[in-house]
Amino acid sequence: MSLLVTGIAELVTHDPATGTLHDAAVIVDGSHIAWTGPAAHAPAADERLDVQGRAVVPGFVDSHAHPVFAGDRAAEFAARMAGEPYTGGGIRTTVAATRAATDDDLRSAVRRLLTEMRRQGTTTVEMKSGYGLTVADEVRSLRLAGEVTAETTYLGAHVVPTEYADRPDDYVTLVSGAMLEAAAPYARWIDVFCERGAFDGDQARTILTAGAKAGLGLRIHANQLTEGPGVRLAVELGAASADHCTHLSDADVDALAGSGTVATLLPGAEFSTRSPYPDARRLLDAGATVALATDCNPGSSYTSSMPFCIALAVREMRMTPAEALWAATAGGARALRRDDIGVLRPGARADLVVLDAPSHLHLAYRPGVPLISTVLHDGVPL
Ligand SMILES: [Zn+2]
Repeated sequence: MSLLVTGIAELVTHDPATGTLHDAAVIVDGSHIAWTGPAAHAPAADERLDVQGRAVVPGFVDSHAHPVFAGDRAAEFAARMAGEPYTGGGIRTTVAATRAATDDDLRSAVRRLLTEMRRQGTTTVEMKSGYGLTVADEVRSLRLAGEVTAETTYLGAHVVPTEYADRPDDYVTLVSGAMLEAAAPYARWIDVFCERGAFDGDQARTILTAGAKAGLGLRIHANQLTEGPGVRLAVELGAASADHCTHLSDADVDALAGSGTVATLLPGAEFSTRSPYPDARRLLDAGATVALATDCNPGSSYTSSMPFCIALAVREMRMTPAEALWAATAGGARALRRDDIGVLRPGARADLVVLDAPSHLHLAYRPGVPLISTVLHDGVPL
């Protein structure tokens, strides 16, 4: 079945062959885009959707999220807003709640967040484990994530769990050995929280190297709280993405700019921890590829909203609205090494968002306003 989407005031394709079109149309054939172009030249289709002067953009690609958890940490957030600093230690609170949850409770928690994301225009989401931190609990988290997304990431190296507090090297051995072996069949990616208080550069290297050997792609939580070794390690190991990139040296920026590693910025984390934002302008001006994602998690960034992250990136990180939208769609696709999403061109997946606005500018111009009118995912309206 084919569908003509017409009446599009502004069509942002991210396809260099067409660019941004006005008075445009899209033909969707099954789960893929068949054609884009001026509405006056649109070929015939079985069905027709007239969006009446609204803008259409690619579905958002949230390339960094932690939605597999139980409980919340609203009280920790309130304490932080009252002046307590964020250290990452609260992760263990969520680990305890997640381990105690039943499969059904955890599954419905993941699906509730997924629904929330979809309603806000996200059509692809990466989901990390990392709140289980035992072999069985990490496998369970990845299995539940794998029920709803192909982009699953093994994050056994989120934090050293309490029971290994006095022997962290034994935990690194587990994460890069038996736990990895059990998790790999359910994961596409491996990730490490490389940070003071979590895993240092040598430990991260051991874990990521083992992950690559097991056939997983690499991603790193890098340089979030301190100017650590994470970004340079990501570039050296050919990671798809270095995420956070809040505290960067000139050498880090140069390394990212000359690499195939995407700098994924997560401004929801700085918002929710009341911290300085990463310098997106510096990365873009140096020539680095920048993505935006939510970092959706119960501790440091409990938002599932890509439009909110776009608004923050424009207001607080000096990205233009067009750069921020690209980073939240095509940039996220690059960070997942995908070329079939984040772009509206013939052959790409029919993942698109109709905005209740005449142009993409409104995503940042009207922060906090529900502007998602219709979402097509694999060609199917939600
Ligand atoms: Zn994260």
